[in-house]
Amino acid sequence: MLKRAIINDIMKTVKLFYDDVYMKEFEAAVLDSSYDDKKKCWLVELDRTAFYPEGGGQPSDEGTLTVIADGADEAAQPVTPVRVSEVHEKAETILHYCDREIPAGCRVRGVIDWERRFDHMQQHSGEHIVSGMICSRFHCDNIGFHMGKDIVTIDYNAKITREELAVLEAEANRYIWEDHALEILWPTAEELKELDYRSKKELTGDVRITSFPGADMCACCGTHVMTSGQVGLVKFISSQKIGKGTRIELLCGKRAFDFLSMNFEQNQEIGVGMAASLDKTAAVYHKQKQELIDAKMKISELEGFYFVSIAAEYEGAGDVLLIREALSPDSVRKLTVMIGEKCGGRCAVFAGDSSDYKYAVLDKEADPTAFTAMIKEMNTALNGRGGGRNGYAQGSVQAKASAIREYFGRSE
Ligand SMILES: [Zn+2]
Repeated sequence: MLKRAIINDIMKTVKLFYDDVYMKEFEAAVLDSSYDDKKKCWLVELDRTAFYPEGGGQPSDEGTLTVIADGADEAAQPVTPVRVSEVHEKAETILHYCDREIPAGCRVRGVIDWERRFDHMQQHSGEHIVSGMICSRFHCDNIGFHMGKDIVTIDYNAKITREELAVLEAEANRYIWEDHALEILWPTAEELKELDYRSKKELTGDVRITSFPGADMCACCGTHVMTSGQVGLVKFISSQKIGKGTRIELLCGKRAFDFLSMNFEQNQEIGVGMAASLDKTAAVYHKQKQELIDAKMKISELEGFYFVSIAAEYEGAGDVLLIREALSPDSVRKLTVMIGEKCGGRCAVFAGDSSDYKYAVLDKEADPTAFTAMIKEMNTALNGRGGGRNGYAQGSVQAKASAIREYFGRSE
């Protein structure tokens, strides 16, 4: 196996994150600093860095670089940290995208945004454990991996049921809690040929193999926790079919904890509202949902009887204008039709409150063109919208009851 020191010798920037993945601060010399017009930032090259550059599906680190001033200068003029917003590897050189220039020759102290980096280590390591187990169990490959800001998405070229995933999720968590140590190998080309690992493709240069023994072995350049226990927890939050494969979304470590805490808060609020214990909220929800459906059906039935008696009052009344308390659009339609069948003239029902009314108008004898024109004119006069045909229209208006009465020429 090649030693890291040899790898470092042939790389331009020394990758401190491979020597100590938990390094949060480091000192380095600035080798070069140039302005990138397109990216509108300074590209700073160091002789060594603990900043992980974007790669292997893992986003880059963020953090700061601070020029280490001479003792006397530092007291006189405090040094403001330069923000590192992105880190990329180009031609074996790691470039730090900075918001200000740091002249070549300076010494700097780098500080990694550790919360961000550790989150990436938890997600990436959890993904390896899960993918290793899924790929060996279902004889498939991981064909897509995206570590988003909120969610990790993985695609596999095999159909996996939700039940199978639930079993695997439990096994992955058990493996995490058993706290297995990560092994990192730098095999020679010959040794590599003998290894059975994921992501086996024609790779040039030195190949880094990360292994959670018994769960996964994979070619990977990313940063990982050094024992599986530090992943803490893995939670699958969705799965769906994609073509002939399966896409799962998962969360690891603190992300999983935050997600489950948010769900707990929601369930607790629902439980209090429903007077249900937290393990019974779904059962109580289904019971209350059915009760609501039954109640709506009962209301609709009673409303039907009520509308029959109202319609009877307007038998032969001619044109009718009725302004009522709020009803559903369907109820407005029913009441209008029932009165319209009896009154022998035009029936207009407005239901709502204040200055917001749903309406329906029925005029069985109306000339279609004149009826359409009348509805259009009414909408304009009462700030409304809606329409219809064959003597029936429905919509809504933003007008007071007095304005509606005035429009229809009624004072009652
Ligand atoms: Zn990886």
